[in-house]
Amino acid sequence: MLIRLIYCSRVRPSVSTLDVRSILSVSQRNNAHNGITGGLVFTGGIFLQCLEGHRSAVNETYHRIAADSRHFDPAILSWEEVDSRQFTTWTMGYLGYTGENSSLFLKYAAGKDFDPYACRATAVREMFAEVVANAKMLKQNVD
Ligand code: FAD
Repeated sequence: MLIRLIYCSRVRPSVSTLDVRSILSVSQRNNAHNGITGGLVFTGGIFLQCLEGHRSAVNETYHRIAADSRHFDPAILSWEEVDSRQFTTWTMGYLGYTGENSSLFLKYAAGKDFDPYACRATAVREMFAEVVANAKMLKQNVD
């Protein structure tokens, strides 16, 4: 059973760019091994992540991630059974806020700042679909 889970969480203030880099590379390594694909968005101190894969692999990975002390307040925004993956070529693509992609974040923001905790499930799903459709937005590494 293929599922897609989207959650958000808040980064601990002590976490540096180097830590985010390490999170991304460990994610890519482990996800390749576990048949998981997805994307990690990081903006305004908030992570928004999409995980796709076998239900048991995604559940296991999510519980490991939720216990990670580098972030807190994890909230599942969307969980659905799906027929196909969106992130077919990404074991974990990365998207950080930049001046160039600011309109994407504003598009899904109720206020002036993008806040996934305040988004509807349909909005975060649509946002990831848009990111995948514009795959050049995704990076393999944290700049
Ligand atoms: P190890 O090889 O044991 O550790 C990898 C590195 O991370 C080491 O440098 C270690 O010191 C450091 N590290 C591990 N856990 C912690 C911790 N709790 N606090 C500080 N440093 C730590 N993992 C995935 O497998 N797939 C994902 O998609 C994924 N996404 C993540 C998204 C976010 C927002 C965060 C915060 C973490 C994510 N992780 C993901 C990492 C996950 O939480 C675990 O740290 C990781 O899966 C452990 O894998 P490992 O045992 O192979 O790592």
